[in-house]
Amino acid sequence: MTYPTAILFDLDDTILDTTLSADRLWSRAAEHFAKHTGLDATAFDVQMKISREWFWSDPQRNLAGRMDLYKARAGCVEHALKTLDASNNQLATSIADWFTERRITEMKPFDGAIDALHSLKQANVRLGLISNGKGETQRDKVIRFGLEPLFDCIILEGEFGIGKPDRRVFDHALSELNAKPADTWMVGDNLQWEIAAPQALGIKGIWLDWRGTGLPPNTNITPDRIIRSIAELVV
Ligand SMILES: [Mg+2]
Repeated sequence: MTYPTAILFDLDDTILDTTLSADRLWSRAAEHFAKHTGLDATAFDVQMKISREWFWSDPQRNLAGRMDLYKARAGCVEHALKTLDASNNQLATSIADWFTERRITEMKPFDGAIDALHSLKQANVRLGLISNGKGETQRDKVIRFGLEPLFDCIILEGEFGIGKPDRRVFDHALSELNAKPADTWMVGDNLQWEIAAPQALGIKGIWLDWRGTGLPPNTNITPDRIIRSIAELVV
């Protein structure tokens, strides 16, 4: 297999271990607050996964939430506590604060991800980073993990003003990288944003199945390729 002219990457759950590191930190929050309050650690931990899934699965909540992560976190905690019949505004705020203080330092790139990006750059593949979310938060991660020098084009939703799956984001990346859609890949974990949307423009969609669970049974989206890690892109 040869490389295309350009590869566009998603950031969270593609380069960075975002969801699993959040899972680990929410579990620690559950244990911490169980020790100091009457919270049932196991029940809260299980319910937080369900509440987060509920929160982020709705496109409207997702858009508002990624622009105000603290509010989103507090909303998920409130939802979880309410579901457990343990509503407590003060506790909800304390848990959201505790999590927020630790969130960025808990996050890490996936094993081999940064090395893979270096290899692709050395092979003269033009690299683009397209990430949805608040500009400040996403830019912090880009700097923290040394990603800026690796990418020829970085489009962050909060800075650019438009996010995936809007085609203008992909059009802008192609123009910045001087690449044709047919000679470009988009790599990411979100089937709508990083497979269906770019495929509609003629870009190849490579799905990053970081969970290793395969495609959801009810999807009608067919990625051009499925990988478990971006290290698999290096030939
Ligand atoms: Mg992602």
